Amino acid sequence: MKGETMGFEDKVALVTGASRGIGRAIAKALAEAGFKVAVNYASNRDKAEELCREIQEAGGTARAYPANVAAAAEVESMVEAVTSDLGPVEILVNNAGIIRDSFLAMMSEAAFDDVVDTNLKGTFLVSRAVVKDMMRRRFGRIVNVVSISGLIGTPGQANYAASKGGVIAMTRALSKELARYGISVNALAPGFVDTDMLAGMNPKQLEPLIKSVPMGRAGTPEEIARVACFLASPENSYMTGQVIVVDGGLSV
Ligand code: NAP
Repeated sequence: MKGETMGFEDKVALVTGASRGIGRAIAKALAEAGFKVAVNYASNRDKAEELCREIQEAGGTARAYPANVAAAAEVESMVEAVTSDLGPVEILVNNAGIIRDSFLAMMSEAAFDDVVDTNLKGTFLVSRAVVKDMMRRRFGRIVNVVSISGLIGTPGQANYAASKGGVIAMTRALSKELARYGISVNALAPGFVDTDMLAGMNPKQLEPLIKSVPMGRAGTPEEIARVACFLASPENSYMTGQVIVVDGGLSV
């Protein structure tokens, strides 16, 4: 894709949870499209740095930044470091997310809090940390990776569905609040995607669910990344507040 970069070389993209899975594929795709990429991770430093090396070897620019997206001070320090190393963040992909599945009767308060803190509060904290620069520059793209669970609800995921539903509502509110500053805010809702998150689910429960996907399979992180890359790019010039579903037909 290099060589067709369409002037994105000066633009900095921050992707949260980019050490693995969907975030990794999104960071890679954005780097291939020419963006400078900040690769956020929680604890998996080796994986994050390996991705940065891969991007650099392919001629791109990437640096890894640890931060728990649910911790305000860590998020603020990360965004300060990215801004000083690479430049102000113009593209934000809020991808970091976790599951702690359990049926309601057995769900612990910690499982609820951890999921809502990471998925919903994390999206708020990172968006807040970058938005002032976007407003000053009159340009920004925020892409929130949600889930069809936040649209249709999945049994055993009351915490996760609530967190993603919350991000969808936040996406709509922010799209209206920020449109006048040239900032678009959209959500991308995958179905089942082949990552560590899916591998961590109970195979007995997962198998019939995958069979029920009209396309008959889970998606790949790269299939999600291609859509994220469009939503994040300046080419996405007249879409905001939308939830784009990429799920092989599962939620239809
Ligand atoms: P994954 O393979 O489990 O990777 C999760 C990523 O998030 C890792 O990079 C991890 O960093 C990072 N992370 C976790 N907690 C974090 C925190 N508190 N602060 C910063 N980073 C954190 O997950 P995935 O499947 O790629 O999922 C990515 C996103 O897609 C999530 O928002 C998820 O809800 C959504 N999604 C996934 C699926 C699916 O089927 N896989 C479906 C729908 C939606 P470390 O490596 O350092 O731990």
